[in-house]
Amino acid sequence: MPLLKSWVAGANRSDGPFPLNNLPCGVFSHGDAPPRCGMAIGDFVLDVTALEEEGLLSLGGPLLDVPYWNDLMEAGPAVWADLRRQVTALLREGSSKRFLMEDHLIPLSKVTLHLPFVVAEFTDFFSGRHHAANVAALSRSGDGALPANWQHMPVGYNGRASSVVVSGTPVRRPWGQIRSADGTPRFAPTGRFDMELELGAVVGTASDGPVTVAEADAMIFGYVLLNDWSARDIQAWESQPLGPFQAKATATTISPWIVMAAALHPFRTTGQPREVPLLPHLQEPGPMHHDIALEVALTPADGPETVICRTTSRELTYSAAQQIAHHTTSGCPMSVGDLLGSGTISGAGRESCGSLLELSRGGKEPFAIAGAARSFIEDHDTLTLRGQALGDGYQIGFGQCTGQVIPALKDPYTR
Ligand code: MN
Repeated sequence: MPLLKSWVAGANRSDGPFPLNNLPCGVFSHGDAPPRCGMAIGDFVLDVTALEEEGLLSLGGPLLDVPYWNDLMEAGPAVWADLRRQVTALLREGSSKRFLMEDHLIPLSKVTLHLPFVVAEFTDFFSGRHHAANVAALSRSGDGALPANWQHMPVGYNGRASSVVVSGTPVRRPWGQIRSADGTPRFAPTGRFDMELELGAVVGTASDGPVTVAEADAMIFGYVLLNDWSARDIQAWESQPLGPFQAKATATTISPWIVMAAALHPFRTTGQPREVPLLPHLQEPGPMHHDIALEVALTPADGPETVICRTTSRELTYSAAQQIAHHTTSGCPMSVGDLLGSGTISGAGRESCGSLLELSRGGKEPFAIAGAARSFIEDHDTLTLRGQALGDGYQIGFGQCTGQVIPALKDPYTR
C-alpha cells in the first residue's frame, strides 16, 4: 500500500511516525482543558471528540465523549473501520472539509498524553523463543532447554492492570524480598532492576467462552509498545513455584498511541518456524504476526543515549490472536480494554536482546554504553522503546514508550 497523501503538515514525510495510513488513537489534554480523544496525524493531534460533537464524524451515537477509547472499541470492528474511513476522507489531500478541520489540529508539542484506554486486565506472555531460551540458559540448571510446554502453548501469567502507566511516567525502584547469599531473605530495594521490550495487544471486543484463533484476531483493536519493568532478584526468590508476582507489579509502561490493527494489516507476516506442530485449536489460519522494527535506548542522567537493542516483532513465535485463543480455552471471559503483553522480544544475537538480564548474561558480563557500563538499570537511567513498521514511502510509528527510574524510597513504610 502506498502513502495516503494528506493536507496536514508533516503527514507526508517518508520518515514520520504518523502518516494518514496510521491514525493511531490517543488521549490528550491541552492547557487547562480535561483530557479527550485524539488521533495523531503528522505533527498534530486531531481532536476527534470535537469532530464528533460538531457532527463532522458520525459513528452512530456519542462514543468519543469520554477520555478513553473503550466506548469506541466496544462498538465493534465495523465502527472501527467506519472511523478510519471517515477520518481518512477528512484529512486526505483535496478534502473539501479542510477549512472546518484546521481548528481541531493541535501541535503534538503542546499537548500532554494520557493512558489511551482504561486497562481492564493485564496478562503477560512469554512468546519470544530467543528470550525463553536465553532465560533457560541463565537459570540454575542452565542447559538452555525450553520448558516442555513452551512449544505447545503461549505461556503466560495474570498481571496487574492497576500498575499500567503511560509513557513518560517516572518509575520508582521497588523494594522487595531478596535472597541473601546464606539463603535467607532480606527486605531491600532491588539491585537487579530490568526492562522488557514487548508489544501489547489491546482487546477491543469482549468474549465469553472459548474463541478460535480467527475469532480472537478479529477482537484485537490495536497494538502498543510495552515495557514490562522487572526486578530480577525479587523475581528469582518469589517465583518458586508460581510465576512473577511483586517483581513485575511496580509498573508496566505503554506507548501513548494505540496503533489500530488495520494500520498494521499491510505488515502481516508469519511468525517463527515451528519445530513441533500445534494442537489444532491454536493453529493460525494465516499470517497473524507483524513486521515491526524495534529498538531500545538507554540514557543515563548525565550522558547521551545508547541504543542497546535492535530487533523485530517477527521474532515472536505466538501471535496475540493465539494468546487470546489460548487465554479463553478455560472459558475465561475477555473484556474490552484487556491488555496482553507479547513477552520479551529478543533476536538471536547479543545486540538484539530485549532485556538487560540477557544483555549482561545475568549480570556477569556488563555491557558498554557511551562512557559507562551497565549490568542492570541504575537510578536516573531512562529506557526508551521505539517501533515502526516500514512501508513503501511511509512508516507506521508508535510514539515513544519511555520511563526514567527514580531512586527507591529510603524507607517504604515511613509516611
Ligand atoms: Mn514480560
